[in-house]
Amino acid sequence: MAATADRCAVIAIIGGGPAGLMAAEAASKSGARVDVYDAMPSVGRKFLMAGKGGLNLTHAEPRAAFLSRYGDRRPYLEPLLAGFGPAELRAWARGLGIDTFAGSSGRVFPADMKAAPLLRAWLHRLRAGGVNFHVRHRWCGWDADGALTFATPQGERAVHAGASVLALGGGSWARLGSTGAWVPLLAARGVRVAPLRPANCGFDVGWSEHFRARHAGHPVKAVVAAHAGADGVERRQQGEFVITATGVEGGLIYTLSARLRDEIETAGAALLRLDLAPGRDLARLVRELSQGRGSSSMANHLRRRAGIEGVKAGLLRELLPAGDFADPARLAAAIKSLPLRLIAPRPLDEAISSAGGIVFEALDERLMIRDLPGVFCAGEMLDWEAPTGGYLLTACFASGRAAGAGAACWLASAKAAATGP
Ligand SMILES: Cc1cc2nc3c(=O)[nH]c(=O)nc-3n(C[C@H](O)[C@H](O)[C@H](O)COP(=O)(O)OP(=O)(O)OC[C@H]3O[C@@H](n4cnc5c(N)ncnc54)[C@H](O)[C@@H]3O)c2cc1C
Repeated sequence: MAATADRCAVIAIIGGGPAGLMAAEAASKSGARVDVYDAMPSVGRKFLMAGKGGLNLTHAEPRAAFLSRYGDRRPYLEPLLAGFGPAELRAWARGLGIDTFAGSSGRVFPADMKAAPLLRAWLHRLRAGGVNFHVRHRWCGWDADGALTFATPQGERAVHAGASVLALGGGSWARLGSTGAWVPLLAARGVRVAPLRPANCGFDVGWSEHFRARHAGHPVKAVVAAHAGADGVERRQQGEFVITATGVEGGLIYTLSARLRDEIETAGAALLRLDLAPGRDLARLVRELSQGRGSSSMANHLRRRAGIEGVKAGLLRELLPAGDFADPARLAAAIKSLPLRLIAPRPLDEAISSAGGIVFEALDERLMIRDLPGVFCAGEMLDWEAPTGGYLLTACFASGRAAGAGAACWLASAKAAATGP
């Protein structure tokens, strides 16, 4: 009985990213002992990396637009976000001494844009609240006795817990800790896991050596990308992207990446159409480009008449048949709608986030795995995806909070059952 009571007293949180830390915070409020385990020498490494380019915590757009970012997983995420959404997240950050602001795009950042001060304050508060941290503990599954097993520098360790939360992340940027190695462990237990796939990722194009040498690393700014889905509905988005050694990446590409990835999976390639001169209409471009260029070079003609130069001119040269440059109508049409064929998404490890993961049908409303009572899940390891813009972290925090609270409730019931009336 004593051993059972001890086991019941502990909640193990495995994975110290934003989802796991939020689960720890929610669980510790119940008064239970909370132990956080992480494979890496320190927690929150991907969260810190997210802070490098400006930590986009959440988004300030209206609720309906915000929820729409989760696509067909919205019904599963909506109740979680109702418990802890953008407003609650900003208030929570304020509680840690971190003020936030919404930029002109509606994206919400900490005042100093950084992740480190927020993480530092959070870990301090968690420790002060009694949460224990065990780093360099790589979770390897369960032993025959149902204990969680960990590989540690001191050898294997078995840990009994009354409830556990798995918050192991997806499969991108493995060097920061989330390797996706949990997939076969859970699949072996009969948990349905949708294959992990790159989300918010770049794509391969297959540039010529000449174009790659001249333009890799260059940003393409003020451009509109259009993609027609299988349903014929076109999605257009203005923004910027970057030419890479093999293709394209960056904000504008990430926004469209889920549908581009899906189209490549089904059709073998995806066609993106680029408007290189969003500020000029087609008729004006045809007029301008029809002016004789005399002795000036095509490069000068394009720059003077169409405002096209540098990498944009390079893209035209790379993708347009040479003969089309002599035909103002065809040249103008290409500037307004340049076809760019994408042949493969970049590998999962390079992606900002992962699609796929534990399917929601395998979980109850508190995010407990139905077939593994007492085991809860949260964060990017669940089967949802969203564009960049703060939607990823918001859903990680919200699901972590729900899973942590669920684990605490489970533990309380198990304790009540063990001690009896
Ligand atoms: C470069 C970059 C920039 C980003 N910027 C933003 C942004 O600005 N806004 C935004 O919303 N999102 C951003 N993201 C995405 C965001 O960081 C992730 O969605 C989020 O960190 C996922 O949280 P998580 O807790 O589910 O998983 P993770 O943060 O991946 O944490 C998982 C943890 O589990 C641990 N772990 C894994 N396997 C084991 C194991 N077997 N045993 C023990 N521990 C294990 C890992 O070490 C890790 O600490 C960015 C991502 C990247 C890569």
